[in-house]
Amino acid sequence: MSARTLAIGALLLVSIVAGTVSDRPRVDSPIILGGFRVIAADFHVHPAIVSAAGLTPWDLVLEAQRQGIDAFAITPHNNVFPAPIGRWFSRLIGGPTVIVGEEVRAAGYHVIAIGIERTVSPHHTAAAAIDEIHRQGGVAIAAHPAADYWPAYDAAAMAALDGSEVMHPGALSVERDRADFEAFYRRTPLTAIGSSDYHGLGRLGMCRTYVFAADASAPAILDALRARRTVVYGVDGRVYGDPALIRLADADGRLRERGAERANGNALVWLSRLTGVAGLAGVALL
Ligand SMILES: [Zn+2]
Ligand SMILES: [Zn+2]
Repeated sequence: MSARTLAIGALLLVSIVAGTVSDRPRVDSPIILGGFRVIAADFHVHPAIVSAAGLTPWDLVLEAQRQGIDAFAITPHNNVFPAPIGRWFSRLIGGPTVIVGEEVRAAGYHVIAIGIERTVSPHHTAAAAIDEIHRQGGVAIAAHPAADYWPAYDAAAMAALDGSEVMHPGALSVERDRADFEAFYRRTPLTAIGSSDYHGLGRLGMCRTYVFAADASAPAILDALRARRTVVYGVDGRVYGDPALIRLADADGRLRERGAERANGNALVWLSRLTGVAGLAGVALL
């Protein structure tokens, strides 16, 4: 075996070991601030029925746990069907709180419905869909509200809407989306939401909402969203949400720190990535 082959083998071995060690689920101690339990949440997560197309509801539960997420909503397009399976599985293993939801994907708008049990039709106007979400005891969140979707949010829809995705992976890469989401969020008092719109790629919880709830149960989280008790970290040091809670979180420092580490990974993650790429490049050259 040549020295070159050995070096490539060593790089790949380091990559696998560092990747495996860094991928251990880390159990974060609960954070209590201002008398509230601070819940790291992701309310926009898509399941797949066959695992080749993304993660199944039970895999989402394990992945959320790995990413330090305390609560998440499973939000299939225009149905709720696989979401209760994830909730059942997570209860079985003592995993994160799973909230049953749907992404109502209509022609002119996308709305996240969470805390519902029956499918909300995408053939409603936005205002009628939000009314139906509320009739079921749920919370309605405008999904990635880029300017193209604004016409669907008339006065009735805006008066009823609970929250809005001010952070979403689109805002990380497209400056115009970031500006649109922020402008929509600032139109009227809305609950600040950060969601990953996870489809199997990227990272579940890469954009997240910190919810200040009485406890980690779904009803307590929904109550906190209705009362707008959230903090969301955005790009370039921007922070959205309840001003008093932002001050509490800033004085404490742990939320910003955890979010940044989850988004960027730690030194071991980078070691695994760099040696993995170098090792595979070596294989290709050979
Ligand atoms: Zn959407
Ligand atoms: Zn989506």
